[in-house]
Amino acid sequence: MACGATSMAVESSTEAEAFASATALPNEDTGFLRDRRRRHSFHASRKLSCDYQDADAVFIRVELFLAELERRMQWLEEYRRSHMVQIDTSLKRGYATLEAVRDQCSLASDELMGSGKKRARILVETLEDGYNEVLVTKETLEQKAQAGVRLMESFLSELEHRVHAVRDRGIYGTLDDGWKAMDSKLVSAREIVDEGMERARRTRDSLRVTVEEAIRLAQEKRLINYHELPHPWRVNPHIIKGYRFTTSKVECVSSVFAYSNEMFNIWSHMIGLVIVLAIAFYFYPLHTNFSLSSKSDITIAAVFFFAACKCLVCSTIWHTMNSIASQSLMERFACVDYTGISMLVAASIVTTEYTAFYCEPISRWTYIILTMSLGIGGIILPWHPTFNRHDMAWARVGFFVTLAATGFSPIAQLSYTRGFSWTMYFYAPIVKSMVVYFVGALIYASKIPERWKPGFFDYVGGSHNIWHIAVLGGIFFHYHAMQDLFAGAFIRAQGECPSL
Ligand SMILES: [Zn+2]
Repeated sequence: MACGATSMAVESSTEAEAFASATALPNEDTGFLRDRRRRHSFHASRKLSCDYQDADAVFIRVELFLAELERRMQWLEEYRRSHMVQIDTSLKRGYATLEAVRDQCSLASDELMGSGKKRARILVETLEDGYNEVLVTKETLEQKAQAGVRLMESFLSELEHRVHAVRDRGIYGTLDDGWKAMDSKLVSAREIVDEGMERARRTRDSLRVTVEEAIRLAQEKRLINYHELPHPWRVNPHIIKGYRFTTSKVECVSSVFAYSNEMFNIWSHMIGLVIVLAIAFYFYPLHTNFSLSSKSDITIAAVFFFAACKCLVCSTIWHTMNSIASQSLMERFACVDYTGISMLVAASIVTTEYTAFYCEPISRWTYIILTMSLGIGGIILPWHPTFNRHDMAWARVGFFVTLAATGFSPIAQLSYTRGFSWTMYFYAPIVKSMVVYFVGALIYASKIPERWKPGFFDYVGGSHNIWHIAVLGGIFFHYHAMQDLFAGAFIRAQGECPSL
């Protein structure tokens, strides 16, 4: 991060000072004016040299800029009223333009935007048409937003500079020139802002219309088709019929009992949950291993059962609630689904690490802590907006690959201490569950078989249904593998660490 939270806080307080003096300007002497201008130019040049790499810092910067725009415009307005009673036509026009920019931005904050990210996107879209040459070299939304803020900042600074010059010299003619110079820039800025806001309003309105239309259709015929869903709800174009679209959470839950294209997904994991609970609380305690297990052995098995149950519960919640007609809620439920998978992968790996180093506590806990940390990261990260950004796909893949790779990291150490064939023999029981997960994930990602016959697998037999069965198969095979691993560990312990 080139510019961290500390510098952000420093900059915010500098801005607050600048505004405090800016709003006091009309009633202060010219000494304050010069002082303020000096501080302002320092402030602006420092901002230009500092690019925030962290998305949240950029979005906060956008929010600050929009607040700043409002306050600086207020000062300009007061100054105009008290000192520029006689203004010519070009000045009036320039002022009207600035006023329009301010109004559009406040309209954006009141009506259109829910967060800094959305505002940043609007700012970028707004400026892209007329000032694309400034933004085209930037890749990410954050970089573009920073360039956009700098551009708008330059408009305001130049205007304020002219006002200071007039105030210092008492020559209103200079101000007039300043307004004229700014005028052409601001007129185009106003047009761009108008157009961008209009486009955003149209997008928002059209989404609202399609959501309302989808609700109406769903109330009329209960299940709707893929092309009748609003865009954010469209996931798989090969599943054509059977979509629910509900206005309340209660409706989502009650729709579980009526058939839809989510019925198989919901019930497969709900029934799977009952089976896993039965294994955990009935079949596992009856197993020979259970009577030989220490408290920590049982704890590790319990972590696996807990992760399996959490995965199935999260999946059931997501498939039950994904028809909710609120985009933000629907996206939050999607995060719930991701977190379940991370924890299951981490817990499955932990069972192999625990049994592989049954008599080597240092290695055992080192590997387990590493995997657990990544697993906990996999639960927290999906909730962070940065992690879900389109340009962060590499980071997501990197994260999950690292998590899965920790499962194989003990191979080198085990091969060195116990030999390669011993290591392969040790890992043999988990091959079945890994193959099932892997094949399931491939089918899921490639949308097979529905891509071959769209509409035919809408209710049952689609790729996501197969993935759900693969997850259940993976859990079931890993449970058996875990019992084999524990049985092997108990036999080794008799010779290597009988006290354990
Ligand atoms: Zn699912």
